Amino acid sequence: MNGMKRADVVLMIFLLLLAGFFILRNVQGSQETAATIEIRQGNEEPVYVSLHEDQTIDLSRGEFVNIIRIEKGIVFMEEANCRDQLCVKKGHITHVGDSIVCLPHRIAVTILGEREGEIDVLSQ
Ligand SMILES: [Zn+2]
Repeated sequence: MNGMKRADVVLMIFLLLLAGFFILRNVQGSQETAATIEIRQGNEEPVYVSLHEDQTIDLSRGEFVNIIRIEKGIVFMEEANCRDQLCVKKGHITHVGDSIVCLPHRIAVTILGEREGEIDVLSQ
């Protein structure tokens, strides 16, 4: 009888570990890593830019000035001459789903994620 009990305990531990493993996997799978930004401007096709490269993106058109800056995975509107300045005041965005919108100039910048398995661990 004793041996039987031990087997039950082992099975219990095994099942708990298995459940824990699956829960952990699900949690990790739902946490996407910020990877790219999607830039929408007016009716134009969206433009996708990697977040892994520091760069300045000039979206200025005519008298409308909008300059986006990507620095170490952080995105912000460095400069804009829109009347409300909401896009500049928005400050830094870093998480998947976060966005900077410049309504007067019809610009929307959104951070998009990277799916599990595509994450380049070495570069982080
Ligand atoms: Zn603005």
